[in-house]
Amino acid sequence: MHGLCKGWMALLLGWLLIAGGAVAQPVATLDTRLQSLQLTPYVSYHHDADGRADATAMFTLAKSGGFAPLPPDGPTFGFKDGAFWFRAQIVNQDPDEPRWVLLQQYALSDYLDLYLRYPDGHIEHQAGGDMLPFSARPIRYRQPNMLVSLPPGEPVEMLLRVQSQSSMQVPLALYTPTAFAELARDTQFGQGIYYGILLALLVYNLVLWFWLRDTGYLWYTFHVAAFGLNLISLYGLGFEYLWPNWPWLADKSIPLSISIALLAMQQFARYFLELPQRWPLGNRIALGFIAFFLLWAGASLVLPYRITTPAVAVMVFPSVTWLVVESVVLYRRGYAPAKLFMLAWALFLLGITAFTAIAFGLLPKTFFTEYGVQLGSAAEMLLLSVALGYRYAGLREENERVVREANEQLERKVAARTTELSSAMAQLNEANAQLREYSRRDPLTGSYNRRHFREVFEQQLRDVLDGGQSLGLLMADLDNFKQINDNYGHLVGDECLRSVARCFNEALADRNAMVARFGGEEFVAVLPGIDAQGALQAAEVVRQRILNTPVYSGRRHVRLSISIGVHTVAPDRTIAPEEALRFADEALYRAKNDGRNCVRHSVSAA
Ligand code: GH3
Ligand code: MG
Ligand code: MG
Repeated sequence: MHGLCKGWMALLLGWLLIAGGAVAQPVATLDTRLQSLQLTPYVSYHHDADGRADATAMFTLAKSGGFAPLPPDGPTFGFKDGAFWFRAQIVNQDPDEPRWVLLQQYALSDYLDLYLRYPDGHIEHQAGGDMLPFSARPIRYRQPNMLVSLPPGEPVEMLLRVQSQSSMQVPLALYTPTAFAELARDTQFGQGIYYGILLALLVYNLVLWFWLRDTGYLWYTFHVAAFGLNLISLYGLGFEYLWPNWPWLADKSIPLSISIALLAMQQFARYFLELPQRWPLGNRIALGFIAFFLLWAGASLVLPYRITTPAVAVMVFPSVTWLVVESVVLYRRGYAPAKLFMLAWALFLLGITAFTAIAFGLLPKTFFTEYGVQLGSAAEMLLLSVALGYRYAGLREENERVVREANEQLERKVAARTTELSSAMAQLNEANAQLREYSRRDPLTGSYNRRHFREVFEQQLRDVLDGGQSLGLLMADLDNFKQINDNYGHLVGDECLRSVARCFNEALADRNAMVARFGGEEFVAVLPGIDAQGALQAAEVVRQRILNTPVYSGRRHVRLSISIGVHTVAPDRTIAPEEALRFADEALYRAKNDGRNCVRHSVSAA
């Protein structure tokens, strides 16, 4: 701080001298207690356009007043051919500090040649700059530096030749070794924090990409890496830590990394904002930017630095502005994730603007303006990482919703299918039951058929054995039915058969009987739990009912009569169905013999 004040005062003094018309620059005096000194106020310069002049010629030129004071905005000349010579006269008044560190506070100068002429006339030469390997530096530091010996009390004349492809910026300063150690420590700490944030974001998002396979994270990581590489190159840290033996890369890395960083930004934006689907025109413009940066990244490797760097630097502002425009458009179109995206790039833009504004002298140099790019970019990258997370969460929610809806739809479909299926099953069951019923019935009369009768009768005979119940069996045959058929026709015969079946069923309705058509005009009936007398009575009821139920055919009444043979199975008696039927049939035969239209019981032991 103390040194800085002195520096400012000396600067003021320098200005006053220039304003006063003096050509010679003041002598830089290194007092006791002075820890560092910015040399700008004490420096005069000469532009050697073809770069051929040597130190001796320049010492002579300086002596004859051929050096000019620095321009008002300091030792900054832009991209220039040839060599620049800077001169300062220094007296060290501090007996305790015979050695000082000369620092060139701009990392990218290619060739530095320092000549120190001492009072006894001897000249010492040292070389530096980023075209020499990093190990050539006396102190391992991101900016070129030299150790100069300044014997106390002796005036020393300093000449520094600078030649560079990069922009000609030569802000020189002298530091005591102690002050330099403190400076290095503080700035490296600040830089460390910044690159630490970048590295953490990089690794974090790379891991996210690895797990989530969302391409957005890859482009974002790409952008952070290229941007970090750019700042690392710009501040000389890349040369210090990453490629100390590749001076060639120290120059190329800047336009290359800017191109890649800008390219990745645009690509990330396309992906993040879903430009191809959401805004095709904007997408085409973004692709235009990408094509340009891709071309320029290639050109950076072959064209000279002084052509590629300014061109790509000019593109930073429009490129980032375009990102803000994209996100505003997308946000206004209702795409929510564009909001954070917009904020991130706006902050970055603000940082760049602040940085540029101090370069043009529009803003005072404060911590916030000077480190605008770092602050803005750190905020941008953090926000973008958050935005990615936010967008990912949105996508996941959307996915979950889609899956949930699909599930619900599936469930509804399954339910509908189940209902359909169960109703089909019910129909099938019904049809089956109907089929079963049909297979039991005689189609003409609707009464049970002989096969079903057989099944049930067998079961009932077994029940007789088990349950101690008797069973009545009726075997009936219409009388002279052949004649009826002959007289009235077969259709009337059929109607008679139906009428007989009805009479049977009605007559035996409350007796739990099973009536079946045995074949032709023969009917059988089984009456469980009935004795011989009951069976005879029931048969009699049937006979009379048939007798009293004439069938109408045209205008005539067809009278019917039936003969019935009855057999009763006593409880606990084992008898085969055929045998029981044979007994009943015998009884029927007797009924026929006894003149028909009557009921007879079997004669076997009941
Ligand atoms: P009876 O039993 O009194 O001795 O004389 P019947 O005339 O009934 O004698 P028979 O058993 O020989 O005649 C049975 C007749 O029943 C013969 C056949 O034409 C008739 N028949 C058998 N099945 C059917 C049928 O499904 N429909 C009609 N219309 N007639 C049938
Ligand atoms: Mg018959
Ligand atoms: Mg008959």
